[in-house]
Amino acid sequence: MAADDLLALDAEHVWHPYGPMPGQVPPLLVSEASGVRLRLADGRELVDGMSSWWSAIHGYRHPVLDAALTDQAGRMSHVMFGGLTHEPAIRLASTLADITPEGLRHVFLCDSGSVSVEVAVKMCLQYWRSLGRGGKRRLLTWRGGYHGDTFHPMSVCDPDGGMHSLWRGVLPEQLFVPAPPADFGATPDESYVEMLAETVERHADELAAVVVEPVVQGAGGMRFHHPAYLRALREITERHGVLLVFDEIATGFGRTGRLFAAEHAGVTPDVLCVGKALTGGYLTMAAALCTGEVARGISTGEVPVLAHGPTFMGNPLASAVANASIGLLLERDWQADVRRIEDALRQGLAPAAELPGVVDVRVLGAIGVVQLDHDVDMAEATRVVTGLGVWLRPFRDMLYTMPPYVTGDADLALVTRAIVEAARTA
Ligand SMILES: *Cc1c(COP(=O)(O)O)cnc(C)c1O
Repeated sequence: MAADDLLALDAEHVWHPYGPMPGQVPPLLVSEASGVRLRLADGRELVDGMSSWWSAIHGYRHPVLDAALTDQAGRMSHVMFGGLTHEPAIRLASTLADITPEGLRHVFLCDSGSVSVEVAVKMCLQYWRSLGRGGKRRLLTWRGGYHGDTFHPMSVCDPDGGMHSLWRGVLPEQLFVPAPPADFGATPDESYVEMLAETVERHADELAAVVVEPVVQGAGGMRFHHPAYLRALREITERHGVLLVFDEIATGFGRTGRLFAAEHAGVTPDVLCVGKALTGGYLTMAAALCTGEVARGISTGEVPVLAHGPTFMGNPLASAVANASIGLLLERDWQADVRRIEDALRQGLAPAAELPGVVDVRVLGAIGVVQLDHDVDMAEATRVVTGLGVWLRPFRDMLYTMPPYVTGDADLALVTRAIVEAARTA
């Protein structure tokens, strides 16, 4: 079918993320992708600075991942997970238990990041119900977070960014504290820690859990905070009998320079969510992991089962490609790659700091952000960066990149140049 006809049908029928219907701004038509390049239907090639929303850490059409997928498709693409099990899911769950922070032993595989947050919340609520503490059903989080688009995750997204005013009366009303001071390297703010401790103590009777993204608040604003706040949260929640959930859907699998961002703080949450890069960007899958104590609490209650079970739970194709992706990550010196990218981003984005309208340039691991004093002109930014052969998807006042770990130095230079140019004009 001709590109124009496809795009006309797209506008007529296909809903895109956070888009109106019919579509207003035509998306770019992609026909293929390999390595770090997207090939457009009109023949142009773009270096992908987004890793397809932070998931394609090994790039596209990686031979090892392709082989894992075709090999698994030759055995079975899917079987139900109720009453049946299979090696790909068993291997994946035991690997996740091995590589995540010590103590997270039990793994619930599910369809997407948002669903894994739903499952994490359900684990926490059910845990307290089982212990006869059904009144503990609210969540506490800090502002500036993002945890997904289904309703419970939305309720702990930043109230402004998550459009809570639109959903008043629909979303459960959770407790919010101010966003953590956003500076990974600065001395932690004692008064902020005191405020956290006081708030948790005051609401301990109604709080089921504190839910946060560790170290990097991603889609809520690309803010990086000091790991000391996570250590403080661990200590405070333990002291007051509140569970702690880390949402590592964006940070997991090396993005911040540690395999999991919790390692920066050296703490284990009670529940941990992973997603996005789990399958190397090939298929949708996520997981919620919990400690033995949470699992025991749930399993000895009045309803002694975790009441959740998606149709495509533990999907063998997704599990197989996740196993291959984790294997690929761990067998290479991924830390060296992330450090190399971090250096290239620092160097390449530094000139943006001098530009009028730029309020901050920050880099952590393989994440580079240029923040403006105004919302990015999306059409103009897209024109500028695609003109230079780069794909980026800015949001709000932010131009940023989270490139695949396999991105070479010349391509990184191209990506940072595109960000600097867009900061100049958009
Ligand atoms: C993307 C994201 C989610 C939601 O994941 P989906 O797979 O899009 O549902 C949740 N939490 C964080 C931190 C994310 O970055």
